[in-house]
Amino acid sequence: MDMDSAEEIVIVGGGICGLALALALHRKGMRSIILEKSETLRDTGAAIGIRANGWRALDQLGVASELRHKAVTIPRIRDVWIDVGKQEEIPEVGELRCMKRNDLIKILADALPPGTVRFGCQIVSVNMDQENAYPTLRLYDGKSIQAKVLIGCDGSRSIVAEFLGLKTAKPFSLLAVRGLANYPNGHAYPHEFTRMRRGKIMVGRIPITNNLVYWFVLQQSTQSDENLTHDPETIKRSTSNIVSGFPSDVIEMIEGAEVDSLSLTHLRHRAPWDLLLTTFRKGTVTVAGDAMHVMGPFLGQGGSAALEDAVVLARCLGQRIRAEDLSNGGRQILIDEAGEAIDQYVKERRKRVVALSTRTYVTGLLLETRSQLVKFAAIVLLAILFRDPISHTKYDCGRL
Ligand SMILES: Cc1cc2nc3c(=O)[nH]c(=O)nc-3n(C[C@H](O)[C@H](O)[C@H](O)COP(=O)(O)OP(=O)(O)OC[C@H]3O[C@@H](n4cnc5c(N)ncnc54)[C@H](O)[C@@H]3O)c2cc1C
Repeated sequence: MDMDSAEEIVIVGGGICGLALALALHRKGMRSIILEKSETLRDTGAAIGIRANGWRALDQLGVASELRHKAVTIPRIRDVWIDVGKQEEIPEVGELRCMKRNDLIKILADALPPGTVRFGCQIVSVNMDQENAYPTLRLYDGKSIQAKVLIGCDGSRSIVAEFLGLKTAKPFSLLAVRGLANYPNGHAYPHEFTRMRRGKIMVGRIPITNNLVYWFVLQQSTQSDENLTHDPETIKRSTSNIVSGFPSDVIEMIEGAEVDSLSLTHLRHRAPWDLLLTTFRKGTVTVAGDAMHVMGPFLGQGGSAALEDAVVLARCLGQRIRAEDLSNGGRQILIDEAGEAIDQYVKERRKRVVALSTRTYVTGLLLETRSQLVKFAAIVLLAILFRDPISHTKYDCGRL
């Protein structure tokens, strides 16, 4: 195959994970490029809650202090069951802030050397070069790029994961609508993450600033949702109808949402047992972020786990690969060393993401299942395995 260019470290996907990884590599003195299919940075999903474990990773990336100025702290979580008139408070949740996605990705991208992200580059396939065992990427425009190390941060429908032989991520029977509501004169909500449930519907609400609030609605998806429109006005209308039994401020918040912040997502996940058994490396190719471990949003951990991946992978590569190896291309040495670094990364991350995705999966069962028996089993499992409601946020991915 004729090669249009050869690169050192290629990252596919410029979402949270790809940007964080390129930044982590840059901090370790390693150059990479990101191939992103969109023409600009993507901030779909409006906002993202970041817990203490995510902040530890952002501290290592050197962008946490700038980000902290963008959002208020949220010291507690309140769970409300509207049907039964019950409330529960989790008082000490560690550092929690809700960031506009745009702020997060822009700050990560701005910290990268100019030209790191190549927009409008959609990968359509990956092959292993038979001669030199390096991965070769085929782009949508017909060009091809050879990489010495390839990391797929291309999300839940990852082409790189497909090349590694991973199963496709499974759909949940749930969908999520997300949006931002702006209150020019300030909102009256307390600084808390409120999760309100009524029947099979959950509404979440977190203030970002004193004027801006992020909300999401989780609901059962049905066959007829398959062709759901992505037109924001229609999403807003149908979501307002769905929450009609919720308090009036919730309905007003949804009706007042900024139209261009609205999105609708069918939730997907990789099962914990798949994460336990999958081989995440082929030669010098691996995956990170949702491409590796997409999970339901029930603990709000996918993005923070992607930030952790970035720190751990850059650390492992930095320990094994010298910058000269990359630029001189000492081939066999590089393949061996990069392979060892990726194996170390997969070993470290497997334990963490299996635990996180198990907890997320069981939490999701509570929302999804119609069976009282499964619900009971999920409650027992959570009580036995995950007694501390915030233990997953105490994880420290370590120094870069
Ligand atoms: C409803 C909902 C709520 C959530 N809430 C939270 C939360 O509060 N906290 C939290 O931590 N996480 C949360 N998450 C999870 C979080 O959004 C994801 O884990 C995170 O965005 C994953 O980032 P990523 O970079 O791995 O993937 P993505 O964000 O999917 O980025 C992948 C990138 O790759 C690009 N790409 C894809 N295919 C190709 C290709 N073939 N060629 C080139 N580029 C390609 C895409 O354009 C995209 O830019 C939530 C998820 C959902 C669905």
